[in-house]
Amino acid sequence: MGDNTQDQLLKDLKERARPCFQCGICTSSCPVFRVAPELNPRLSVDSIITRGVVPREGNEWLCAYCLMCDQRCPMGVSLAEILMEIKNISAREGKAPPDVIEAALSLMQDGCLSPISSRSEKIRTELGLPDLPKAEPADVLKLFKATGALEVLETNKAAQEEASE
Ligand code: SF4
Ligand code: SF4
Repeated sequence: MGDNTQDQLLKDLKERARPCFQCGICTSSCPVFRVAPELNPRLSVDSIITRGVVPREGNEWLCAYCLMCDQRCPMGVSLAEILMEIKNISAREGKAPPDVIEAALSLMQDGCLSPISSRSEKIRTELGLPDLPKAEPADVLKLFKATGALEVLETNKAAQEEASE
């Protein structure tokens, strides 16, 4: 990604984070923070506002996108979206964590993240529930291509291979 695009993204993020007055309600409301304090939405926003940099530690990948922080922020800052954008920037730079890459590859290959087990199918039949639609990897591939996710995935795979050499 070009420097101009990166600068524009940072400018947009700063604008969205601007109302934050660092009260910390987002962090104290975050269920992930309670078990993994390295995810700290207040500090992620602080890094953008005061240092003018997108955090590079990668802790934002721990965000479960539960939106609790968004709902509780007294200033209406869309923290979950900001964290998502930080992850997007990091993924475009080939810095997505290995487990995320693995999940994306398996989604592309199987058409779903968690295939339906034969036990679940049996229980559904016993309960009289209809069959679930079959996963279609070809449809997922189309989406990956249309959204640019395939390109991002290739960037990350290449970065992983380079790191392991
Ligand atoms: S809750 Fe809102 S205002 Fe408070 S620190 Fe978090 S983003 Fe900033
Ligand atoms: S959206 Fe992410 S950062 Fe916000 S409360 Fe949920 S897990 Fe924490």
